[in-house]
Amino acid sequence: MISVVTRFAPSPTGRLHLGHAYSALLAHRYAREQGGTLLLRIEDIDPGRAREEHVQAILGDLAWLGIGWDGEVLRQSQRLALYAEALDRLKVRGLVYPCFCTRSAITAEIAASASAPHGPDGPVYPGTCARLSESERSHRAHHEPHAWRLDMMKAVREVGDLHWSDAAAGEVLAEPDRFGDVVLARKDAPTSYHLAVSVDDAAQGVTDIVRGRDLFAATDVHRLLQELLGLPVPRYHHHALLADEKGRRLAKRNGAATIADLRAAGADPKRLAADLLDGILPAGFTSAAP
Ligand code: GLU
Repeated sequence: MISVVTRFAPSPTGRLHLGHAYSALLAHRYAREQGGTLLLRIEDIDPGRAREEHVQAILGDLAWLGIGWDGEVLRQSQRLALYAEALDRLKVRGLVYPCFCTRSAITAEIAASASAPHGPDGPVYPGTCARLSESERSHRAHHEPHAWRLDMMKAVREVGDLHWSDAAAGEVLAEPDRFGDVVLARKDAPTSYHLAVSVDDAAQGVTDIVRGRDLFAATDVHRLLQELLGLPVPRYHHHALLADEKGRRLAKRNGAATIADLRAAGADPKRLAADLLDGILPAGFTSAAP
């Protein structure tokens, strides 16, 4: 039997808050209960937002919480060649196309259209660059910065129905087409969350993905990429998100307390970890800042 390998995969764009800690604790507990391994992967592909100081703070906060990981810490910023190689495989098959649109052009086009379909992440890309001629596409690709988008309908037609399984939800039919032509490589980074996470979970031999329910829908896209790239399919354990007393999910923008705030306030890490695993939040957690 293959032993369980799970992972915690934070993006170092800020300090860990209680929601991250909860997710990390669940992944850690699952690995320990199963006699498996917990890997730590730093998802630092966003050059504008990822910072080294946050990486160091995350390592410190996890250690403070008593969460030990196995093996070396993997950093996505050092693996860009692997993502480029995966993208190349999709290029060769005509499953991706370059997109020259700016964010504001996409927003304007969506605003001007009578019926802009919405996906789990908001309005879907209107397909502007999918309609370019082959010659315009290759000419502009040499001169203009561009992202790479998945030709979703072509990809879905190629693979047919796909399923994945979640510990709580059971067997799930993947409906990645709801997302439209997702970005697989950004203008400012030669990959995207969807591509990097799919490549790395396979490369690291991850068998079980423990993460928040906010990423439940995105799993449909990951399942599709796994199929297109011939990658193994892990089991998923999407957990409920902790909410504050107003019912809002814990997030930086909602003022959720960071682990740094709790450390500074003298919280006992063992107690905090045990309480979080029981779904109990420390008093005054929504905003520790005065
Ligand atoms: N890096 C993602 C985040 O911090 C998590 C990715 C994942 O668990 O698949 O939200």
